[in-house]
Amino acid sequence: MTGGFESLHAHTRDTDGHQTHLEALESAAALGYQVLAFTDHDWFPEPDTVRQLQSYTGPVKWLLGIELSAFHQGSDQAPHNLHVLGYFFDPQNRQLQDYLQELEQGRIERMQRYVEHLSALGFTISRQDCLTAASGSRIIGSPHIVKAIESHPENQAIIDRLKDQLAAAAEHDPELKARYERMIKEGPRQYPYVLFMKASSFVPFPAGHKMSMLSLEDASKLIQAAGGIAVLAHWFFNQDAVSRPQLESLLSTRQLDGVETEVVNLITERDVSAETTYLRSLTTRFDAIETMGSDSHDQADLQAFAESPAAARSVGQTQRIIDRIQPNLTWSNLK
Ligand SMILES: [Zn+2]
Ligand SMILES: [Zn+2]
Repeated sequence: MTGGFESLHAHTRDTDGHQTHLEALESAAALGYQVLAFTDHDWFPEPDTVRQLQSYTGPVKWLLGIELSAFHQGSDQAPHNLHVLGYFFDPQNRQLQDYLQELEQGRIERMQRYVEHLSALGFTISRQDCLTAASGSRIIGSPHIVKAIESHPENQAIIDRLKDQLAAAAEHDPELKARYERMIKEGPRQYPYVLFMKASSFVPFPAGHKMSMLSLEDASKLIQAAGGIAVLAHWFFNQDAVSRPQLESLLSTRQLDGVETEVVNLITERDVSAETTYLRSLTTRFDAIETMGSDSHDQADLQAFAESPAAARSVGQTQRIIDRIQPNLTWSNLK
């Protein structure tokens, strides 16, 4: 192991990760990381956490970013959820703080709607199951809802039934057939999302009113207006949300500062190397920022990234960004 790896995408117990910030830094140090950016979902750490980080004396450089939820109208005209990474912004920016607060409220309402939607499908699930699954987190995300479903073994039969229904419907529908085949390739962790967790699922989750969710363009603008850079996260999983022409236009107009070209996590078992090559070509073509990250939620994810071919390429990425934009380094120990 050569070391010096840099992950600009990681989660903690504040949202859907399994380690605290300091535990993640400890794992990162042991695995040879040099830089770790914390990018929790719609969440900036509380002052206590920031103080703990500031008194951290270990070898890893840390910085505090964010992974913002947003939506984008795909080429199919439907709104799709996606994630925008933000770095080097001022977390005390008023508009940003207001948005995070609205999203927090929206997530509580969404959890309630999930419980109704899933109960109607026959799942055993309660509000309390969701809260238990999210224990220790400051926000409730769809992975917690999936965990709540999994906490009742009898729910597996319903997932199997919906999977069979999709397979049957796919026989006479090429679009569904493609979706079904992609789901099988991506593996069981993706089944709930393809089958019933999303507005675009086989059995759509009624999205409800999108009161607070910003569009991709507006979420990026919010990060940029707070002094930061906006980077589209894991486009591999959001190709329905942002088509190639749309992505190219967003980069050429600087509505996005960059793209994340590599993530290593277990969200998919599909080979995305062709997409990685495409994304890297865009960073050259539009002189856009390239980021790479573990999108880690635990020690195993950090280890998977450290052992992947992306790890060696990740070395030096943070300094390249710093040299390029001369950012405010207040919320880091990079100074
Ligand atoms: Zn994400
Ligand atoms: Zn993430």
